[in-house]
Amino acid sequence: MNAPVKQHLIDPEICIRCHTCEEACPVDAITHDENNVVVDASLCNFCMNCIAPCPTGSIDNWRVVATPYSLEEQLSWMELPEQEDLPAAGEGTSGTIEAFDDEVAALLAEAHKGAGGAAKAPASASKPSVNLFTNANPAIATVQGNYRLTAETADADVRHIILDLGSTPFPVLEGQSVGIAPPGLGAQGRPHRMRLYSVSSPRDGERPNTNNLSLTVKREPGGLASNYVCDLARGDQVRLTGPFGSTFLMPNDPQANILMICTGTGSAPFRGFTMRRQRALAGPSGGMTLIFGARTPESLPYFGPLKKVPDALLAKHLVFSRVEGRPKEYVQDRMRAEKDRIAALIASENTHVYVCGLKAMEIGVESAFEDIARGAGLNWRTIRDGMRHSGRYHVETY
Ligand SMILES: Cc1cc2nc3c(=O)[nH]c(=O)nc-3n(C[C@H](O)[C@H](O)[C@H](O)COP(=O)(O)OP(=O)(O)OC[C@H]3O[C@@H](n4cnc5c(N)ncnc54)[C@H](O)[C@@H]3O)c2cc1C
Ligand code: SF4
Ligand code: SF4
Repeated sequence: MNAPVKQHLIDPEICIRCHTCEEACPVDAITHDENNVVVDASLCNFCMNCIAPCPTGSIDNWRVVATPYSLEEQLSWMELPEQEDLPAAGEGTSGTIEAFDDEVAALLAEAHKGAGGAAKAPASASKPSVNLFTNANPAIATVQGNYRLTAETADADVRHIILDLGSTPFPVLEGQSVGIAPPGLGAQGRPHRMRLYSVSSPRDGERPNTNNLSLTVKREPGGLASNYVCDLARGDQVRLTGPFGSTFLMPNDPQANILMICTGTGSAPFRGFTMRRQRALAGPSGGMTLIFGARTPESLPYFGPLKKVPDALLAKHLVFSRVEGRPKEYVQDRMRAEKDRIAALIASENTHVYVCGLKAMEIGVESAFEDIARGAGLNWRTIRDGMRHSGRYHVETY
């Protein structure tokens, strides 16, 4: 079999045949007949020049294929083919395109590895845009605010950074990441490599319909990008790439039960998930449960605002491992303490599980799931693989 490649396609069901994309393409990769507008896979270099000008979004479609669809095939289509089940080029774990940049795709593949197999988006998730802005053509964002989330006395400096995109459309979904490279050159005289940061605001911005997004960034001692981001001041400009990620997304199904397990900055996407549900859902819905681990309440990002989220929307389990006079508790300990509820959740077809944070949390979480399932007469591996196949089990660890 040929090595899988990424292919750019146009959705014939949505395209209005305005030909704006043809004018925007610098390499004449887009052509049409009386039926369809199509992209020549042998010419397209993923420069993304055609994406923003398209009035319908139909141009923003991508597949991983063993053999690219020919122009003749595309011209005959009435609708887009489904994504085949293939390992993605350079990723090895998924037939879904998470990012076009191979370095970013590799970072995401590594981050999603803990799920135990190819990641899939929830069936009801909205369609994400990926890689609209590249290193060569980044979006320029202005820092609107930079607030410390952890107490001055806490051992970690975690910050909430709001980036304003001005008049640049930068569509993100909850759970996606953006790329930031520290400015300047490294020892070899090459630009520093890009780091990924999860978006912590919902798709419509920090406040509804503001063209901004937020990040939750922990300062790493000696870390190049995190210190650059944590030191940004209001009014500074930042070069953003992305958005990236097309699987760690939130189900739109209001009946979905969402179980979120995180430590530290792993809370970033879950802030976005919770705010999205809070804004989008007027009626009754499946529940949301958060198990969030930190050393102390002072070092738990969003501690104050989180406590104000109504329990009816979000069941909160804030778990601390270094509070004086209290036994150490980690997320896996709280999972075990809540075993009946978790067993009922993982046995349900409506449940979506998300694990996010430091890689070190994976082993404990996995073994807690195993024990809980066993205790309830269930097989965790079978359940987990089934959930993952149906886009209901997600791990993003770094
Ligand atoms: C999908 C994904 C999402 C992510 N989301 C977030 C997020 O929401 N928030 C967040 O804070 N992070 C997030 N990360 C992690 C983030 O991308 C960076 O890895 C992190 O900020 C550290 O980058 P850095 O440039 O500061 O550190 P780097 O410079 O890359 O250094 C990494 C580590 O090595 C150590 N180090 C560096 N140089 C030296 C040296 N010379 N000697 C000894 N030690 C050294 C640093 O102390 C640091 O701990 C995410 C990662 C992924 C893959
Ligand atoms: S991504 Fe670039 S090369 Fe490919 S069709 Fe669009 S404009 Fe043309
Ligand atoms: S710009 Fe968009 S809508 Fe117009 S022809 Fe191209 S793909 Fe179709």
